[in-house]
Amino acid sequence: MEKVASDKGYCPLELSAATEKVVVDGNRRKYVQLGRSLRFYGGTTSATEVGCNLRCKFCFSDKPVWKPKKTGKLYSPQQVFDGLAKNARKYGHKLISASASEGTIGREHLFELLDLVEQSEFIYILETNGMTLGADPAYCQQLAKYKRLHVRVSIKGATPDEYFDLTGARPDSYWLPYEAMRNLIDAGVSCNACIMASFSSDEGIEDVKKNLSKVHHGILKSLEVESITLFPKVQERLEKHGLKPTRAKRLGSWRKAV
Ligand code: SF4
Repeated sequence: MEKVASDKGYCPLELSAATEKVVVDGNRRKYVQLGRSLRFYGGTTSATEVGCNLRCKFCFSDKPVWKPKKTGKLYSPQQVFDGLAKNARKYGHKLISASASEGTIGREHLFELLDLVEQSEFIYILETNGMTLGADPAYCQQLAKYKRLHVRVSIKGATPDEYFDLTGARPDSYWLPYEAMRNLIDAGVSCNACIMASFSSDEGIEDVKKNLSKVHHGILKSLEVESITLFPKVQERLEKHGLKPTRAKRLGSWRKAV
């Protein structure tokens, strides 16, 4: 993997620390809602959390990412678990998660939530962009004690330059999700990677696969290649930044964007 020296873009780890001050208070974290059904994985229950350490221009989440101060309310791990469990039991979901922001922000909150999941019938899917976990192997070691946890690491784009165009973050942080996968596998945590490939060439996607197989050859078996959904706000933001996806889901359908 070619590392790229960087003097441009914000640092996601610094943004993480700043965001934590806004969306975390002790063991409580901000959420917009605590349990709604999503169709992923054949049906899951997901909470909408507030606060992210990236600013992806294609992100479907709006206020939880861009206006964390004004969005959501603080909830304890028990309140979040109860909200998730209530909806999951009602609809027969085994998988629960939080989405629309970064899942690793608020470590104390997350660990207490995972303690509750551990005593339940559910599996928790930790959705992450891999910034924190890539920079902090100890965090991954701490996650290893949870057996009802699966971590899904999302890679944004196929190269450091593409990632910078899409997120505005310093290009060398592109490699942190790869490091996150390495740290999680080394720690024995159940995990898989996905690549957001809406702005990538076919060759770029192949390069991502090559780079991931250097981390661990088994990663490719569970690699997900995903596309953005062109919600009106997303389309508006992309147009503002002059970004055009090559692959995208339109509401209600999937097609290669032209
Ligand atoms: S990492 Fe995810 S939640 Fe955060 S800005 Fe990017 S797409 Fe949105």
